[in-house]
Amino acid sequence: MSIAANLTELKNEVDRLNVKLIAVSKTKSEEEIMEAYNAGQRVFGENHVQELVEKHEHLPADIEWHMIGHLQTNKVKYIAPFIDLIHSVDSIKLLKEIDKQAAKHDRIIDCLLQIYIAEEETKFGLAFDEAIELLRSDEFAEMKNIRVVGVMGIATNAAGEKQIKEEFYELRTFFEGIKQSFFRDKEYFKEISMGMSSDYKEAIQQGSTMIRVGSTIFGKRVIPYWK
Ligand SMILES: *Cc1c(COP(=O)(O)O)cnc(C)c1O
Repeated sequence: MSIAANLTELKNEVDRLNVKLIAVSKTKSEEEIMEAYNAGQRVFGENHVQELVEKHEHLPADIEWHMIGHLQTNKVKYIAPFIDLIHSVDSIKLLKEIDKQAAKHDRIIDCLLQIYIAEEETKFGLAFDEAIELLRSDEFAEMKNIRVVGVMGIATNAAGEKQIKEEFYELRTFFEGIKQSFFRDKEYFKEISMGMSSDYKEAIQQGSTMIRVGSTIFGKRVIPYWK
């Protein structure tokens, strides 16, 4: 099926569930992104700063760009002028740098705390207690140019359905807990970014508000050697 047909089918499935669809366009060409754009998609996710900056420069200005991959502190400055949401905040050091760069551009940048829920050792993210420590810190209280609007998580790759559901359930429960403790009167704290091509159905069942879907829309990725 074409990109447009894949997208339309997925939108028909998720739009009525009040879930925001992030089309993950990493490694995909600008032509392929434009095919999704012309089919109505306006929110795209990338995981590589240089690629994100180039696509942002070349593609229509009404696209909402999300950074979903591991972000190095020294690269925040390149995306700070335009990024709409950073899903992958995994340290206070990174959050401080985002705050600093956002201030330079007189912006407030929305962020999600990436929480480590998978079994794999290699996945980036904060442990539950690290996230709480971050939220309790004086440094966090002093940041004026970032807004933490929710959490993000990646389930164990190729795990069984039961385990994936449990991991998403844990993230949802953690979200509810920190909402009560730290964001009780903050309406903006409402996002749970979980679910990708292989597990978005389970994620939505467990309360996801944003799914990040790449290959179901664009087809398989041929991953370049540097990724
Ligand atoms: C690549 C990626 C996705 C999308 O993966 P698909 O399996 O192609 O849907 C979602 N989230 C993150 C963090 C990614 O890096």
